[in-house]
Amino acid sequence: MIRIPPPWQGDRAEDIWALYDFLLYKTLPFEPGDYLPKDSQGAYYYLDGDRTKQKVYPTHPFKKFELTQTSKVILSRAAVPTPNTPEELIQLVSPQLHQYLYQNNAVKRENLIELLTTQTDVKTIQDKKLNFTAKPELLKMLLFQVFKYDSFSSKKLFPKLVQMLGVEVCPYCNRSFTTTTRIRKGVYHRQNQVDHYRSKSKYPWFALTLPNLIPACGNCNLRKGDDEQYVLYPYQEEFGKQYHFHTTPISWTGYLMGQVVHPEEFEVKIERDPNAGPASNLDYERRVQTSIDKFGLDVLYRESHNAYVCAIFEQRYVFNDAYLDSLIDSFPDLFKSREEARQLLYMKRYDEDALGAAPLAKLTHDIDEEISRLYAEKTL
Ligand SMILES: [Zn+2]
Repeated sequence: MIRIPPPWQGDRAEDIWALYDFLLYKTLPFEPGDYLPKDSQGAYYYLDGDRTKQKVYPTHPFKKFELTQTSKVILSRAAVPTPNTPEELIQLVSPQLHQYLYQNNAVKRENLIELLTTQTDVKTIQDKKLNFTAKPELLKMLLFQVFKYDSFSSKKLFPKLVQMLGVEVCPYCNRSFTTTTRIRKGVYHRQNQVDHYRSKSKYPWFALTLPNLIPACGNCNLRKGDDEQYVLYPYQEEFGKQYHFHTTPISWTGYLMGQVVHPEEFEVKIERDPNAGPASNLDYERRVQTSIDKFGLDVLYRESHNAYVCAIFEQRYVFNDAYLDSLIDSFPDLFKSREEARQLLYMKRYDEDALGAAPLAKLTHDIDEEISRLYAEKTL
């Protein structure tokens, strides 16, 4: 599990919000003034969600509220009155959510914006009291009628938004690329999936919430499920220094001395660093374990990456410090340190700031560190 920097706070934040607002405008049944940014002329979005284009000031009312066929079926099964407005529907499904979103029949703008922009980790949602109770048999209607993720994600520019989030590698497994590519002008080809950290089915009011959207690989998205066992929240949490990969080679001394190595003699494990001190945050520890279990990370790495670890041992032996120093001497413009030279040999960045940039970067980082430690012990 790798932490990904919150893109809505980064260099592209304004571009991301502009596009996000545009997609919301195309999706939400609320009045534009209820959630779009405002200037002296009123609520606006940028044409095509592009900040280099002109502002558009939509007039309202602008959308007719119509029930989908599925909603009609749900309503007739539940034998409840037919709602004629988004407000009536929300009131029907969850009086708590209605109370949060409306006052005197008007949307509370700051609360709607809060709902769309909040981080959705366990603590934040508890602190902000955004765990609304709702009638389970009606819950889906929020997804069909209000927070319409299917509509949102089928917009032509949605893949562009996902691309702008800049998540190149699945943060859950750190194995698969999640790149979104453009195949020709104006048309995006989306390869990755987007996981809802809080599931759409249980928390439909977070279905469009930007910090709830996690670009992830298909396997992890599928395995995560929608129960209340939470994995780490990748916009805030990670394995970090506390949990690391390590190996138990049968004869590590031999491997460090260049003995021929065999993948089956390695066993990759994910363990709590014994030097990390006592566990102080039990919720975090539990989420780490849930992450390992749900994504099957221990089994996956053990069964799949022994040969890779084996290669790291070989590389550390062959490309030793003396060799790296000679590279630095020969190419002073390319390398400033042994770490930089080693990145080239591993063909990836594996420094702590860039673990999300390449598959297996965390594994590479941890095993590389482990080998350094073993070498240090050997010379003592
Ligand atoms: Zn994954």
